[in-house]
Amino acid sequence: LKTLRLILGDQLNHQHSWFKEYQEHITYVFMEMRQETDYVVHHIQKILGFFKAMRNFAEYIEERDHQVIYFKINDKGNKQELQKNLENLISEKDFEKFEYQLPDEYRLDEQLKKICKEIDIKTEAYDTEHFFTTRDELEKFYSGKKQMVMEYFYREMRRKHDILMMNAKDPEGGKWNFDKSNRKKWKGDPEIPHERGFRKDLTNLLKEIEQAEIKTMGEVQAKSFNWPTSREDSLSVLNYFCKNLLVHFGDYQDALHTDQAYLFHSRLSFALNTKMISPREVIDSVIGYYYDHKDEIDISQVEGFVRQILGWREYMRGIYWKEMPGYKRSNRLRNQNDLPDFYWDAKTKMNCMHHSIKNSLENAYAHHIQRLMITGNYALLTETHPDHVDQWYLGIYIDAIEWVEITNTRGMSQFADGGIVATKPYVSSGSYINKMSNYCGNCHYKVSKKTGEDSCPFNSLYWNFLDSNRENFEGNQRMNMMLSLLDKKDSREMDEIRERAKKII
Ligand code: FAD
Ligand code: SF4
Repeated sequence: LKTLRLILGDQLNHQHSWFKEYQEHITYVFMEMRQETDYVVHHIQKILGFFKAMRNFAEYIEERDHQVIYFKINDKGNKQELQKNLENLISEKDFEKFEYQLPDEYRLDEQLKKICKEIDIKTEAYDTEHFFTTRDELEKFYSGKKQMVMEYFYREMRRKHDILMMNAKDPEGGKWNFDKSNRKKWKGDPEIPHERGFRKDLTNLLKEIEQAEIKTMGEVQAKSFNWPTSREDSLSVLNYFCKNLLVHFGDYQDALHTDQAYLFHSRLSFALNTKMISPREVIDSVIGYYYDHKDEIDISQVEGFVRQILGWREYMRGIYWKEMPGYKRSNRLRNQNDLPDFYWDAKTKMNCMHHSIKNSLENAYAHHIQRLMITGNYALLTETHPDHVDQWYLGIYIDAIEWVEITNTRGMSQFADGGIVATKPYVSSGSYINKMSNYCGNCHYKVSKKTGEDSCPFNSLYWNFLDSNRENFEGNQRMNMMLSLLDKKDSREMDEIRERAKKII
């Protein structure tokens, strides 16, 4: 049957079985569409990165003789919507079958199911052959269990896929978890080797995006675009990480610094989420490198990294498919505020917020602790509606695709799911930020002060949050210590804290 196969922008899997051999009756289609550029305001680097990676991938399979149809954003025949483009193609070119890979987003999953019902040719959906787990694996794993805790799922994944195991039962290094040793502050040493970057010239593509008048946010140096947009690039980021950064990854995983946007983080998320590289090969390379350099690299660095990909990444995917579509409406703490304007321009006197937002606007990137404990923390403490928080995170980061963005934002960071992802809210006062960063030294505010005009906003906001949400956390054992510290505060101090917090909010 003459077949049309759809490839979405985050399905650039070079190793997919679809591409093993050339088949004359098959045509692949790629579409740059307003449907995808406009559902939220994206960072300009995100749109550039996706389009460039799609174009590179289309070229790659075309060079291997596959037949390709590619809709560029300004092409005349491009109807800018998936269904319209597909229907036109099917009738113009007499396709007899339509095939697609299962999307990772609920929105596209629903849309494709609807399209398949409405077109009167045969259809078939395939696995993306990317993840360790199937969509429903997490749900099955926890069925009948009272609470979902990532740790148990992660251990099961280690056993099942024989990753960092001494034998069928025992973890390499004698422990499953080395998190406790992964909490150092970075003070300029050890040196972070400079990354060479790709410095690709994407000025022409930028012009096309501008011509299409797509609304974007953030900044770009289009003459020296630095994100990986091909398989080759992605492998080089992975290699770079193994050789230069893995050795200290775990130690400085939670560190924050004004001069270092990336510290020892891998920057692999975009390559992973577009599937240019697979989680299996990332983990295999990292562990392979560790086995060859055991005298230099400690197990704790490697375990910390594997946990992110085999644990958190797969866990978030499972939660997404288990909880959608209701998850998107969750707002357990009933927060209603808007995000402050400075999330869009970094103009704030809070040094930690200024740096984390500035990094995000300049690079379409912030590392995990900036996302969780700075911008996410502040949004939660100031009672921001999770819809607004989601829109910001979904737009600003190059790696943001709903399945992994919403579970991290609404779940882990905003506690809007009431504790499905995180067993307690990730909130802190300024003292945690001061412990992990050099932000506070040069800040307009005083991290040691809880009240008064020059006190660190995180301090009053933190105690106010515990105070005003108390009934949501009573009975949660992990909150006991925080609540008992709250109880020890005298009532006059609490009044001042509430007043200061109210003013900030
Ligand atoms: P590294 O620190 O080098 O980690 C290696 C890899 O582990 C990452 O590339 C990523 O694939 C995976 N990983 C690490 N932490 C997580 C996590 N919590 N969930 C899933 N995978 C993880 N990640 C995204 O990929 N897309 C998002 O849209 C996204 N939004 C987030 C929003 C918030 C509020 C928070 C707190 C976290 C979010 N994360 C998201 C998770 C994490 O922050 C990023 O994956 C990470 O910062 C990407 O940088 P890196 O590749 O240098 O990661
Ligand atoms: Fe952030 Fe408070 Fe430290 Fe300033 S003093 S950098 S606002 S934590």
